[in-house]
Amino acid sequence: MRVLTLVALFAVAYAKHEQYQGWKSYYVRPSDQTQLRSLTSIVQKYKLDFISKASVGRNAVVLVKPQYNDVFLRELADQTIAYTVHVNDVKAQLDIEDAQLEARKSITKDEDSTSIFDRYLELEEIDAYLADIAKKNPDLVTLQNGTSFEGRPINLLKISKPSDDETEKPIIIIDAGIHSREWIGPSTALYAISKLVDEAIEQDLIDELDWVILPMVNPDGYKYSRTTDPLWVKTRSTDNDEKSVECPGADANSNFDFYWNLFGTSSDPCDDNYAGSKVHSEVEVQYGQQNLEEFGYRTVLYISLHSYGSQILYSWGHDGTLSQQAFALQTVGISIANAIQQNAKPNYPRYIVGNSALVTGQQTSGSTVDYLHYNGIPLTYNLVLPGVLDNTRGFNPDPTEIEQIAKETWAGIVVGARRAKDLFGNWIK
Ligand SMILES: [Zn+2]
Repeated sequence: MRVLTLVALFAVAYAKHEQYQGWKSYYVRPSDQTQLRSLTSIVQKYKLDFISKASVGRNAVVLVKPQYNDVFLRELADQTIAYTVHVNDVKAQLDIEDAQLEARKSITKDEDSTSIFDRYLELEEIDAYLADIAKKNPDLVTLQNGTSFEGRPINLLKISKPSDDETEKPIIIIDAGIHSREWIGPSTALYAISKLVDEAIEQDLIDELDWVILPMVNPDGYKYSRTTDPLWVKTRSTDNDEKSVECPGADANSNFDFYWNLFGTSSDPCDDNYAGSKVHSEVEVQYGQQNLEEFGYRTVLYISLHSYGSQILYSWGHDGTLSQQAFALQTVGISIANAIQQNAKPNYPRYIVGNSALVTGQQTSGSTVDYLHYNGIPLTYNLVLPGVLDNTRGFNPDPTEIEQIAKETWAGIVVGARRAKDLFGNWIK
């Protein structure tokens, strides 16, 4: 019966992902900074896509359109940059992954599992989980929301235990899902919520800190990536430009007011790194800005969950210079990475910690990490979750890895939160 179901699912999936016919992806391993910069400029030149960001001595994953395949490989060869095939037929791989996810959904249902960390949840399931946790914990949890371009709630969960003396506590902000296709991020954010609220083992984290968690910054994009295009990155807005009807959305993580659209972004709505028509053009970004005004002055640590690459990256992304907090950013970043490492599986890549432009060779502008750091939050990181595992060639980790990734990341967040409070907690008094 299960075989029949799988065959049927393959047949349904076959009609999808047509736009990826002929696409390939490659592992590309730059051996030094010169090769790293060359790789980045080749990727930018042909408007290719890093599925996993580059760094020296590591496999990046680059998605390559058929029309640029030959020239891409020729340019890599010219620069003697090492590469191997990651996925030879991207469309077929996406079809297989769809079928696997569907099969897993029915297995999970068969076993009547209550875990939410054994599969990638649908948007409605995430919304329901957050509503439920707020309802069950009215003294600790407040659920509020903004509204996405297509009218979906952008949930924000505040976890705050009133303090005895009514002093204001430092805040930790965690967000996920700004990039639609990075499904492991929202699951990891939900895991953090479950640890803080359901289990509450680390009591100091609740007694001494407040938490603001946005598990799904870009719900329209997530929905679209789950139903239509699993490699979708952007929002789904159609009001930026005449071309936005045909090519919706902007990269929300390039749309914030920090050297907007000057480095590493595009002005073409059809590009994945389109910065939007103006600063804060995306309603999802406007909601982020409002939250900065509400919570920013008390925030000591901001972590934005992305995938994949096993990297902890900090400012400044536009030019690779270091901020005045670089020493704290590096040392706390290493503490977070070490805590994750101690809880990681042996086949997971080790984390790299550093300035985002230097580690990845890629300049960015308008990112949340730079914007929030510039606006006074002392520790802001992109935490790029692991993904390139020995046992998979896919674009998201196998669902059986979700709980492990969420668990080890939580260990890192715990350490980061305590270090942030110790270093910067009395700034806000
Ligand atoms: Zn991302």
